[in-house]
Amino acid sequence: KTFEDCGFSSQLMSAIMKQGYEKPTPIQCQAFPIVLSGIDIIGIAKTGSGKTAAFVIPMIVHIMDQPELEKEEGPIGVICAPTRELAHQIYLESKKFAKPHGIRVSAVYGGMSKLDQFKELKAGCEIVVATPGRLIDMLKMKALTMLRATYLVLDEADRMFDLGFEPQIRSIVGQIRPDRQTLLFSATMPRKVEKLAREILSDPVRVTV
Ligand code: AMP
Repeated sequence: KTFEDCGFSSQLMSAIMKQGYEKPTPIQCQAFPIVLSGIDIIGIAKTGSGKTAAFVIPMIVHIMDQPELEKEEGPIGVICAPTRELAHQIYLESKKFAKPHGIRVSAVYGGMSKLDQFKELKAGCEIVVATPGRLIDMLKMKALTMLRATYLVLDEADRMFDLGFEPQIRSIVGQIRPDRQTLLFSATMPRKVEKLAREILSDPVRVTV
């Protein structure tokens, strides 16, 4: 399977080629058709598998497909990750594909000035990459609304549970419209994560690499 088989726009193809990605990784081969058709997904995959691009590239397609982008505000894609380091990596990977499309990405995590993040979110973005606690802080401060969010990614869900973020994840999910598309990635599927997936995803397809 090649990237050409995926039906991506020439703009997206050139961003992919610019990264030197020659062909989709196994998780990408499995995830692209499912995610592009709007179906929820549980991806059992570890770091190093190319899982970030597996959810970032279809997210760009999802955002470019939105009609009348200007009418509402707030991010369309919301990505939650357990740690600052991972959130930052996802931010960098997202920017590679978002920037050529004029899509704005904001990163929101602990250890950075809340006021600066508040201002950045107020300026507007289509994608927000966040650790759960800091995203909740920003929502409380009304730095952003999630009215327009239709693409939610929970990355390394098992680690988010290990770090005690289950209440924050549930709170965030509860603030995002039910007609969203939800993607959950995890290296392992302990019972608690399985239960969350059952509650917040609709008819998900499971892929394992
Ligand atoms: P990840 O598993 O998302 O942390 O990605 C691991 C590394 O693989 C990152 O450096 C990505 O930039 C890179 N990568 C992602 N997709 C591909 C691909 N299709 N071909 C080559 N490298 C890739």
